[in-house]
Amino acid sequence: MILKAAFWARLASRWAKRQQLKGNKRRTTDPETLYELKDTIIKKLWQLKEQLENEKTKIELKFYIPEEPHRYNFLFCDEHYEEFAWERKEIYDGYYRAIEFFFDHKSEILKCPKCKVNIQEYYYSLYSLKIKFPNNTEYHFHIPYPIGKKYFPKYKDLEEVEELENEYGLFRFGAPVSEEEKKLFPLKLVEKESKRIIEKLTEAAAGLKSTTDETTEQEHTQQEMSFTK
Ligand SMILES: [Zn+2]
Repeated sequence: MILKAAFWARLASRWAKRQQLKGNKRRTTDPETLYELKDTIIKKLWQLKEQLENEKTKIELKFYIPEEPHRYNFLFCDEHYEEFAWERKEIYDGYYRAIEFFFDHKSEILKCPKCKVNIQEYYYSLYSLKIKFPNNTEYHFHIPYPIGKKYFPKYKDLEEVEELENEYGLFRFGAPVSEEEKKLFPLKLVEKESKRIIEKLTEAAAGLKSTTDETTEQEHTQQEMSFTK
């Protein structure tokens, strides 16, 4: 079941990428919906981590920090905007982006009381999750920090990993479904199977929870009994 879950999560992610490439009008399912399916599967798999490790599946979670991991939203004040416009025109011949100006004058702008800057830390960082099954099948997932931080451990507690981003592609990691995969695993099938596996994983996690509850209860009773003795 877990192997299947990883399989469908990967396909959901690859279909999401294909949907991203299509224009809004031509697609039936949003990439976000598909990424959500992928993320939900990953989250559920993570919840079953201990059980998986007992079954000799290796799970490796690391953290990837790109060169510029934070996301900046800014609104220059009038003075800084004028300075930016001037530099763009006089120094850079029109080829100068606001973000470049921001980085070139970062400390000054961060100090400016009138410029508005919002920093989302590690926004572009990714959790790097590898699942190695006993039959040597390996799956490698990348989960954006803003999503993964809700259920993964704190990034500070994880080993940092070097990863190679796709330099020329549209996607930093991974690729859209191939023509062959498209035929073998059509979108509707991937959606259906992903949803089904989410239900199964949820049941498995619930079962796991009640078993542990029972064990603890039993242990308590035993402790109490031995105490009475
Ligand atoms: Zn300013």
